[in-house]
Amino acid sequence: MLKTRITEMFGIDYPVIQGGLMWIARAELSSAVSNAGGIGFMTALTFTEADALRAEIRKCRGMTDKPFGINLTFLPTLRAVDYPAYIDVCIEEGVKFIETAGRSPEQYMEQLKSAGIKVIHKCTSVRHALKAQKIGCDAVSIDGFECAGHPGEDDVTSLILVPITADALDIPIVASGGFGDGRGLVGALGLGADGINMGTRFVATKEAPVHDGLKQALVGADERSTRLVMRSLRNTERVLHNEVVDKVLEIEAQEGDTKIEDIAPYVSGQLARAVFEEGDVEKGVFSAGQVMGLIHDVPTVKELIDRIVSDATDIIRNKLANAVG
Ligand code: NAD
Repeated sequence: MLKTRITEMFGIDYPVIQGGLMWIARAELSSAVSNAGGIGFMTALTFTEADALRAEIRKCRGMTDKPFGINLTFLPTLRAVDYPAYIDVCIEEGVKFIETAGRSPEQYMEQLKSAGIKVIHKCTSVRHALKAQKIGCDAVSIDGFECAGHPGEDDVTSLILVPITADALDIPIVASGGFGDGRGLVGALGLGADGINMGTRFVATKEAPVHDGLKQALVGADERSTRLVMRSLRNTERVLHNEVVDKVLEIEAQEGDTKIEDIAPYVSGQLARAVFEEGDVEKGVFSAGQVMGLIHDVPTVKELIDRIVSDATDIIRNKLANAVG
């Protein structure tokens, strides 16, 4: 047991969250995280129809009796997304926790709160965290520059962002971006967070429903193996470095304003999906974090969470306690 405001809020044993992972955070992975004492969030946009999300929620409920949640990311997309339909499904299916990301969930807050749903908003700056608190979010997941996916445009690393956010907010905060082991969990708690969020680390687990080729690529890569694409569109994404990424960066470096149409054939989520299903990591652009430098194996989710908690507890009980005498 590692008790924090986050474990209390979600009713879980350990302050470890698996946040939204496009195409990957489905019932297999999220239920495994919840069963292991953390909490998994399934990514709504993975399911093109709201009814497919409904089926996945029911499937997940059949795989765990522990709390789990749904991620709703409000970022630009190549296809139209019917957010209200996803929200209706979450409410109808009795979902208790929603992780929002990408843009303020303000317009949906009243509906979510009246349905008794707790909202954790993932953002990348203190000003957005303060706004989330102001509009009634129950917690904030603060995403440092190390993170996979969209780190925002301020480039502030977790080491700075987490304590500044902890100082500024009254509601619980979760440290996200760069976390993958017990040392990171202790570090996050020391910086004032109430828990950690992990994405890339959970992709390299047995239960993650992706091809083993991708998992092995994450093990083989290191902390220098990411690049930032779409900076020219102010929609920066940290991704695994490959040849497609170099092509995107080449287009973005050319004179003149880059338009999404110029790079859409390369950054499309459909290619990322093919990478996840087929394991050929040269096939598309997909999110991955600097935490790859800390990923050396593909354990089960339970092995991973047990190891993180046991290492964290050992550091707190022995190394740190002994240090103060
Ligand atoms: P997609 O195929 O719709 O789009 C591919 C990429 O292009 C995404 O990064 C998207 O944000 C970007 N994009 C699309 N239209 C854009 C525009 N008009 N201007 C600027 N950028 C644009 O994406 P998908 O794979 O189907 O994913 C669905 C959503 O989930 C997207 O919004 C994506 O950004 C988001 N996502 C978030 C994370 C994360 O780290 N939070 C990771 C993966 C995907």
